[in-house]
Amino acid sequence: MELLFLGTGGGTPSRLRNVTSIALNLQGVHNGFWLFDCGEGTQHQMLRCPLKVSKLEKIFITHLHGDHIFGLPGLLTSRSMNGITDGITLYGPKGIKAFVEATLGLSGSWLTFPLEIVEITAGEVLNDEHFRVTAYPLTHPVECYGYRIEEHDKSGALDAGRLLADGIKPGKLFQQLKLGKTVTMEDGQIVDGRKYLGPAIKGLTLAIFGDTSPTPASRELAANVDVMVHEATLAAEMEEKANSRGHSSTVQAAKAAKEAGAKKLIVTHLSSRYLREDTEWLLAECRAIFPATEMAHDFSVFEV
Ligand code: ZN
Repeated sequence: MELLFLGTGGGTPSRLRNVTSIALNLQGVHNGFWLFDCGEGTQHQMLRCPLKVSKLEKIFITHLHGDHIFGLPGLLTSRSMNGITDGITLYGPKGIKAFVEATLGLSGSWLTFPLEIVEITAGEVLNDEHFRVTAYPLTHPVECYGYRIEEHDKSGALDAGRLLADGIKPGKLFQQLKLGKTVTMEDGQIVDGRKYLGPAIKGLTLAIFGDTSPTPASRELAANVDVMVHEATLAAEMEEKANSRGHSSTVQAAKAAKEAGAKKLIVTHLSSRYLREDTEWLLAECRAIFPATEMAHDFSVFEV
């Protein structure tokens, strides 16, 4: 899997950063990708990277501020104009349904694909074959959530050598054994697949925060995650200003990662006041607290 940052700015776009959107490419698990937030211009950013809008499966919105959702109507209608019929599920706080229905309705737009809109509250958002996603409430002037994404553990590899040594020949039924099932072989032998599986492979975990000032939910939301994505709207010296608007500073993002036991932190959602030459010292502020920090730029890709 990989995280591809389509927009990494907070508030308004700048020449350096578009407003927020993050793609989670599920390659290796699914054939598709998920989107977290969809600021204005997200569809333009997608045209400049290898993501195909037809492969978009789910959209998770953290909150309804414009820099996180104004890209939705354009993205959805363009996807429709491309004649795509595969459905999308859109998750977001209360009001997301009215926003999408009003913008599509008033502009006389329609969609060629089914769009399911799920208005979420805190707690489990989805639990499918591969992932569990849980929403945690954050501290921001409007209802805002962070998403914890947990990949289910995968069963260990089948020990084909040991099966052969026990006189069990490879064949179609090996697939069933791989899933840990008990199978009656062609010769009548009953084989318990679980006995031939290696140790389970731990699924990956991610925490993708929406806008927030330091918040009590962060410890649980990001507890021991492989990757934590957190906003760092302003520098440490402007902490008070950041917090007064429901945002965090560089240092506060780093402290949250440290407290939660995250393995890696990626900071994003930087104020448009910062220029390219500022990124180094802003990142240094984070690394002084939490060395395993990276800063996202538009089109940054991070392997998960
Ligand atoms: Zn916001």
